[in-house]
Amino acid sequence: MGTLRDILATRHGIDITEQQERILFDDLHAIMEINKTMNLTRILSEEDGMVLHLEDSVLGLPYVNDAPAGLYGDLGTGGGFPGIPLCVLTGRETLLVDSVKKKVRALEPVAEELGVGDRLSTYGGRIEDLALERPREFSVLTARALSSLGSLLELASPLLRKGGRLVCYKAQPTEEELEIAFGIMKPLGFDLVCDDSHELSDGSTRRIFVFQKAANPRIALPRRVGMAQRNPLT
Ligand code: SAM
Repeated sequence: MGTLRDILATRHGIDITEQQERILFDDLHAIMEINKTMNLTRILSEEDGMVLHLEDSVLGLPYVNDAPAGLYGDLGTGGGFPGIPLCVLTGRETLLVDSVKKKVRALEPVAEELGVGDRLSTYGGRIEDLALERPREFSVLTARALSSLGSLLELASPLLRKGGRLVCYKAQPTEEELEIAFGIMKPLGFDLVCDDSHELSDGSTRRIFVFQKAANPRIALPRRVGMAQRNPLT
């Protein structure tokens, strides 16, 4: 296996600088250290982390870069993936969102150390509550390992401004999950922009779905806290 920069360039056509690569490994290392005392990620070695956190996170870079300029949010950020790497690489003002306050608090000093503390902030609360506080403020959102595609569309819709994009990282969505998401995307105000498959360097498949907010949703959003994930629209 080559360096992260080689893998990104040869497999995925994504160029990052040596300095950016160093910052990404510093991020991974810092998260692994915190993970010894707080449950941020189930990936325990830096070797696995290079693929499953860094390579995977950076796959989203071209899609986030394609979105309109403006605020970027990572929904259900956990240990800051893909949010911190994409903050580093895009230069966007970034909000990391997670309902577990102590997780996002732990990411703040990491961002400072990496030199992105001035444009990265955190929200320790539910996505549904953020949508009430900051409706239509975001130009681009990412979500990895958070919920079904349909739930993600519902959670993201009130946060995105018109033209804004939702970038979803998915391993193996079921046919049923796709059918539901494609069925409710229009009522939630979205168009599908792309559905791309990538192979990570460990041989696993990653699908990236990008949806663009084209119109206001036809139902009042957000619904009550928890509904999007516990009782998803069909
Ligand atoms: N995105 C990270 C990754 O891929 O490594 C973390 C994924 S983790 C499985 C999902 C995270 O989403 C958890 O940290 C959880 O606390 C958070 N989460 C789930 N539902 C949420 C909601 N409605 N609002 C905010 N955070 C939520």
